[in-house]
Amino acid sequence: MARYTGSVCKFCRREKLKLFLKGDRCFSEKCSVDRRPYPPGEHGQRRTKFSPYGVQLREKQKVKRIYGFLEKQFRITFDRAQRMRGITGENLLLLLERRIDNMVYRMGLARTRREARQLVRHGHFRVNNKKVTIPSFLLKVGDEVQIREKSRKIELFNDALEAVERRGVPPWIELDRKEMKATVSAFPVREDITMPIQEQMIVELYSK
Ligand code: SF4
Repeated sequence: MARYTGSVCKFCRREKLKLFLKGDRCFSEKCSVDRRPYPPGEHGQRRTKFSPYGVQLREKQKVKRIYGFLEKQFRITFDRAQRMRGITGENLLLLLERRIDNMVYRMGLARTRREARQLVRHGHFRVNNKKVTIPSFLLKVGDEVQIREKSRKIELFNDALEAVERRGVPPWIELDRKEMKATVSAFPVREDITMPIQEQMIVELYSK
């Protein structure tokens, strides 16, 4: 699968918002948004006024980047959200939240979603005692995500767990830090997503 391997800090600078794509660095004084709070590139410091289309596009790019998606995969998720009952924009965000890679990040076993995706692919996690290696696997209420016994000694997981204190664990996840496992206690709701996102803009953009 195609993946982006370039610098991610420029995404935050483009959106003029911390997207938290680099783990500990995002909370330090090295954060590029704090040091250079203007878009990247030669004309980054120019004042820009976005058209309504531009505003919608930026909103879509922001969400794609927060969750680490490329366009094709994001569009597939959007189409799925559209086929679901309820508000499409909210459905989209909640589908993104329910993925196992997001869960691993949210429960504090990875410093970033990108790292979480790689760890899932490498087979470090089990859902209800079954190995899952597909990052897009969608969790249901009652599912238990656990780290594989052999992987528990890996230092990276302990470091990531310590860092989760800063981010906090959302209310729909019941975390057992000692056992390095978590249960989905409820489906996430819109209010659980605290990043400033206007999902309706994405719906308007894709409806053109
Ligand atoms: Fe974004 Fe983190 Fe880089 Fe800051 S350090 S610009 S929050 S990815």
